[in-house]
Amino acid sequence: MRLSRYFLPVLKETPADAQIVSHQLMLRAGMIKQAAAGIYSWLPLGYRVLRNIERIVHEEQQRAGHIPMLMPTLQSADLWRESGRFDAYGPEMLRLRDRHERDMLYGPTNEELVTDIFRSHVSSYKTLPLTLYHIQWKFRDEIRPRFGVMRGREFLMKDGYNFDLTEEDARHAYNRHLVSYLRTYERMGLQTIPMRADSGPIGGDDTHEFVVLAETGESEVFYDSEVTDRRFGDRVIDYDSHDDCRAVFEEFTSHYARTGETHDEALFHERVPEARRRHARGIEVGQIFYFGTKYSEPMGATVQGPDGKPVPVHMGSHGIGISRLLGAIIEASHDERGIVWPAAVAPFQVGIVNAKQGDPASDAACEKLYATLARAGIEVLYDDRTERAGAKFATMDLIGLPWRVTVGPRGLADGVVELTNRRSGEREELAPSQLQGRLSE
Ligand code: ATP
Ligand code: MG
Repeated sequence: MRLSRYFLPVLKETPADAQIVSHQLMLRAGMIKQAAAGIYSWLPLGYRVLRNIERIVHEEQQRAGHIPMLMPTLQSADLWRESGRFDAYGPEMLRLRDRHERDMLYGPTNEELVTDIFRSHVSSYKTLPLTLYHIQWKFRDEIRPRFGVMRGREFLMKDGYNFDLTEEDARHAYNRHLVSYLRTYERMGLQTIPMRADSGPIGGDDTHEFVVLAETGESEVFYDSEVTDRRFGDRVIDYDSHDDCRAVFEEFTSHYARTGETHDEALFHERVPEARRRHARGIEVGQIFYFGTKYSEPMGATVQGPDGKPVPVHMGSHGIGISRLLGAIIEASHDERGIVWPAAVAPFQVGIVNAKQGDPASDAACEKLYATLARAGIEVLYDDRTERAGAKFATMDLIGLPWRVTVGPRGLADGVVELTNRRSGEREELAPSQLQGRLSE
């Protein structure tokens, strides 16, 4: 992409109404624009990151055997009356009426819809286990939308639903999700701690939240300092194996940690030695629930079991805050000059800065590099504007691409360009012909 032809409306000033750094940086980097309170347009740069996060979530969901689909944003109130949640959900649910005076709602979550799909099409235990998921916009009429995409009213969520014959299978689905979530966040460069939590309006017996530690986080958390050193890494897990998934569950959640509201201080003190007790703030980037037959029973989602008798299925649901993740990643990864994207989610991998636009040698070298890298499948943003080099550097630092290549007449006279790592600031000079190989490493 050539910056001269792109749409990157960066802001010079920090917007006064943005309180936290991720919100400020997303506005300054031209990633989002507020459309109404808690509702945002995703400008091209923000949209690229959103799609990258979505792609990682899709890959990890499908690796765990979960099946993608897509359910609508607008739902009929009828199903929600069946589950009892039409009234129970409260003012966060946006209720609407269509021209035929039918009650509708903009889905805050999808348990009812997916349970209806299930009961319409599944009648035998032989279809189980089954986990369906989708990535779709949600609406929750938050009383105080704030911090940009962190607490929006409209936001993008991956939500998945498992259907199992027995509680044991459903517990396995729970553990399997825990494993796949750990992997998902780690791929995005995030360290998360799974913490036992409150179930809220979803209801249920067991639930963990995935929390990213950050000063600006909205929840208060207590944790064992040891859990922050854990890395899932590239270990191989058999997602069908109950034992494999349970082992990871035990390893990553063994040290007691809870959010402020439900924090059981006595137990925390009992299990965690004093020197390792930590108290901090965190951002919730996902949550998993096991809720048994809470929806299947009232909504009649039963299957014929092996003995021919009808049994309500055991269910759970699992959510990842896709749009919130952009904010969380920036909170965890930025410096005084701007965003520092982990490579896996970066909008482009490399930025080329032509330090002297209009200089024939620089222009020619940039064009050649741009074409070569693009042909190699590397995502490049080429700053070909007639701006001062300093202003170009500031823009590149602000938008946080992992690598910057600076091309100028002085270096070219010596046959080199400069490669800068955004995170470490390390620079190296190399011949343009070596660049592709170096970046492919
Ligand atoms: P919170 O406690 O932050 O309000 P929640 O527990 O109500 O969130 P869940 O129902 O668990 O939310 O939804 C799954 C995920 O969706 C959350 O872990 C969070 O990352 C994301 N999410 C929830 N509400 C919002 C919101 N208003 N804006 C952006 N993301 C959200
Ligand atoms: Mg939650």
